[in-house]
Amino acid sequence: MRFLKRINPVLAALIVMSLLFCVSLYAHVSCSSTSYTASVSAEAMPSSTAAVTAAKAPAVTQAPSEIYTDSSIIKLVNPTHSVSKSYVPDDLTSPNVTRTQSDITLRKEASDALEEMFAAAENDGVTLVLSDGYRSYTEQEQTFNSYVARLGEAKALKVCAKAGYSEHELGLAADITADESTAYSSSFDSTAQGQWLKEHAHEYGFLQRVPEGKSSIVGYSSLPWHYRYVGVDLATAVYSVSPDETLEEYWGLY
Ligand SMILES: [Zn+2]
Repeated sequence: MRFLKRINPVLAALIVMSLLFCVSLYAHVSCSSTSYTASVSAEAMPSSTAAVTAAKAPAVTQAPSEIYTDSSIIKLVNPTHSVSKSYVPDDLTSPNVTRTQSDITLRKEASDALEEMFAAAENDGVTLVLSDGYRSYTEQEQTFNSYVARLGEAKALKVCAKAGYSEHELGLAADITADESTAYSSSFDSTAQGQWLKEHAHEYGFLQRVPEGKSSIVGYSSLPWHYRYVGVDLATAVYSVSPDETLEEYWGLY
């Protein structure tokens, strides 16, 4: 008995130490999962189905190295792939299409394709209107800051790219609308213009860049009016996987 009385404090100390070790392990796991949740929600978009669709599917094909070159028509831009601050396309031109403002430009190849696309839509009785194209780094910075002033930075990040992270800085992104009053409408997909583009834009080299439900994959809120020129070959290949396929899914980069 005397022995047990002497050993008990030692056993008790061992038990206490074991318990403390287990608690510290649990605390460590909890912190990891908390920070994981936080990093996901920083990019997360409103729709809960978006989070469900984020389960990673295998890439359709391996991304070519050109996706990292600013001047390439297939340059990838999203919240984790930026455009150089100094990059300015050297072939900007003003497409001859109906627009909401006079000084909209795009790179020549995208501009030619856009003119062709707008003419084809018109032939089908659908009038498309261009509401924005190329933005310089400084213009994107001003646009983002105006959103921050109105919404605060957290909300602004969900609806507007920071300077250096917008496809508009490539001169390869076109914001398209039905008319001036409906520009940047979240219901653009349900207009005749939105439906025509969903069906035909790829034939002219354009992809709807952030289809509904793909926000958590691309990293920006759904942008039904925002079409990105990538060339007919890539646009058709991506669209043939699914009309809502994203570049990130196609290349397995998310
Ligand atoms: Zn846009």
